[in-house]
Amino acid sequence: MNPAHCAPLGLYIHWPYCARICPYCDFNVYKAKGADSAALVDALLADMARWRQMTGPRPLASIHFGGGTPSLMAPRDIARVLEMADRLWGLEAQAELGLEANPAERVRLGDIVSAGINRLSVGVQSLDDAALARLGRDHDARAGLEALDIARSLVARVSADLIYAREGQSLEEWEAELSTILALGLDHVSAYQLTIEDGTAFARQVKRGTLVPPPEDLAADMFCLTQELTQAAGLEAYEISNHARGRDHHSRHNRLYWTGADWIGIGPGAHGRIGSHSGGGRIAHAAPLRPADYIAGSQQPIIAAPERLSALEEAQERVLMGLRITEGLDRTQLFALTGRDVEMSAANGFSADGLVELHPARVRLTRAGKLFADRIANELAPES
Ligand code: SF4
Repeated sequence: MNPAHCAPLGLYIHWPYCARICPYCDFNVYKAKGADSAALVDALLADMARWRQMTGPRPLASIHFGGGTPSLMAPRDIARVLEMADRLWGLEAQAELGLEANPAERVRLGDIVSAGINRLSVGVQSLDDAALARLGRDHDARAGLEALDIARSLVARVSADLIYAREGQSLEEWEAELSTILALGLDHVSAYQLTIEDGTAFARQVKRGTLVPPPEDLAADMFCLTQELTQAAGLEAYEISNHARGRDHHSRHNRLYWTGADWIGIGPGAHGRIGSHSGGGRIAHAAPLRPADYIAGSQQPIIAAPERLSALEEAQERVLMGLRITEGLDRTQLFALTGRDVEMSAANGFSADGLVELHPARVRLTRAGKLFADRIANELAPES
């Protein structure tokens, strides 16, 4: 049997519609009003069938509905996608079937779980109503907590997603918010530092001076506090922003990205990766961004031509993603798959500064290094 057929495979479904667009968001999203949902679901199903030809028969380790706001999808459409995935690839026995849920759709969570979902990430974001309004969210803190309660009554695997380092937020306020969430005894919390991304409404507000992000030192203190509080609550930081009560509660789907496994990307703007340089080439695929183009493309034999990454491009991606997880990047595997290693002069320098732990087979960020994760990853990525 081809060993590639034994490697884990994930399926990502991008639902690009949101009830409204949050001012900090730089994802590929569109207002749900007037959206052609039925045509998009048909296009998703057609795209899946096409991908099946590329991957061959391999059972799926995970399916993840992201977006956008996939909790806006009709539960019967979620069920259709899951059934089609099962028919095309089959599911591993413990397959993770996850969905990102907006608290605004909390009354639909029961139907979403009945459709087959077994893990819910609830976008609580904040427990401060004024902050939620400033973030442009369409729910309040009470709805966030209610959604968590409902989710926990439905499935064993639930995550709360939070955003910190918001404008005007103090360290004490973040401590109180995170402590309230941790006191719930959840098994998974994702805490993302708010970043101002180019092209967003928040970026324009920063330029105009109507939004002042917190100073870098305060954001760094919040990051360190997050590590301490989550650890004290029994949640290990298994990735820069993700904390879980043991390996069983890690996001299996996200681990596929961080470990450079294979995944299929379905939906407008979704990306996929299959294979490796050592196995004949890593295929990269990006679907058309706009839903209308994606739907129109679904009538064609291929939506967008897959590209073959060079060994260097594959190595660079593997370094950028692999450093995010606490166990770090497997250098032996990197070399075996791409013939490349990390940039050793940079690695030795960061090691001397206490920002990375460097071992012959592995390199990982220290807690101090996690504060500079993007810069370190960029400098460790091979250049040739
Ligand atoms: S709900 Fe999520 S995906 Fe949609 S605009 Fe807001 S942050 Fe972006």
